[in-house]
Amino acid sequence: MWLDMNFDSIESNLRQGGRISRADAERLWLTAGDEQLQTLANIVRERYHEPQCATYLLMRIINYTNVCVAKCDYCSFYRLPKSSEGYVRSKDWIFSKIDELLQVGGDLFAFNGGFNPELKIDYYVDLFGSIRQKYGEQLEFYAMTVVELLYIAKVSKITVPQALVCLKEAGVRWITGGGAEILADSFRKRHSPLKYTVAEYLDTQAKILESGLSTTGTMVIGFDETLEERLDHLETVRLFQDDTKGGLFSFLCWTYKPYNNDLGGSEISAGEYLRHLALCRIFLDNIKNIRTSVLTQNANALKGLTYGANDFDVPWEDEVTQMAGAVIEQDVLRILGYAKEEGFKTTYRHVAKHPAPLAIPAVS
Ligand code: SF4
Repeated sequence: MWLDMNFDSIESNLRQGGRISRADAERLWLTAGDEQLQTLANIVRERYHEPQCATYLLMRIINYTNVCVAKCDYCSFYRLPKSSEGYVRSKDWIFSKIDELLQVGGDLFAFNGGFNPELKIDYYVDLFGSIRQKYGEQLEFYAMTVVELLYIAKVSKITVPQALVCLKEAGVRWITGGGAEILADSFRKRHSPLKYTVAEYLDTQAKILESGLSTTGTMVIGFDETLEERLDHLETVRLFQDDTKGGLFSFLCWTYKPYNNDLGGSEISAGEYLRHLALCRIFLDNIKNIRTSVLTQNANALKGLTYGANDFDVPWEDEVTQMAGAVIEQDVLRILGYAKEEGFKTTYRHVAKHPAPLAIPAVS
């Protein structure tokens, strides 16, 4: 009934450049059909992007250490210090991972480890400085997540701005918004009490932007979070983006994988992910790039292009989600084929300043 009375006015408001309220978002989630969500998501998408066009990139996540003291109950990846299964990879191992992706023309790497108390800021300055020295502008990399930055500053006994100065001098340009999961303190107390509060997370994001580095917004759904907690997250991100005048380059939502960890549970449906993606695009009207997660949704992620997303990674490797049950398909043409089936033309979005040519034919 509410939707019958309000859909046309929400649609017309969005067409005129308006935005929806949190109460509208809640009611749309509860009552709108998939096609209605797609219609609204595409109205907002078309403020920024050509219809039926999407961009993608090849990205390898490099897990250089699995030692972590945060003990999030949804994590399948970490090992505590002194575990015989804990590791810190050598530089040569990291370089070999980089070389492999560069050979096919991929140019983006994301470093993701844990809260390893043995690795202080000097370790990161040396690692990232070495990568910039060896590879120059052939590649770009996301050096760490927001929460890792906070932990590294703390364990190195320096401030976040001091850590950022060191990292910038070593050639770092990007941090990612990872570690957000659900930005609601109630959720964080339940599942990741050592992974910083929402206020600490946002303060660090603001400091990253103030330092001149780039950052992104992220979200993970499918744990046991409530609708209220999901809406808290979206509202927090939209407000941050307003306050920073568009500071977040993009927003990526992926889904929890429930295997091999303390929390367990089951995966949300493919349809729930797509509906949520549409809600993200509609509500986060101040974020240009809404990304869909091939890493956790495989072929379903490409349907996300019809639910408001405009960009995606073709992931090469990520031990964190693979250990929790993600299956990575390294067949780029097949993945691009899924996008084509949805009616989308895909173009590679280079992140590096001087990347090698892509060794993958275009799919048009
Ligand atoms: S999710 Fe990240 S911070 Fe939490 S336990 Fe796993 S590696 Fe550590």
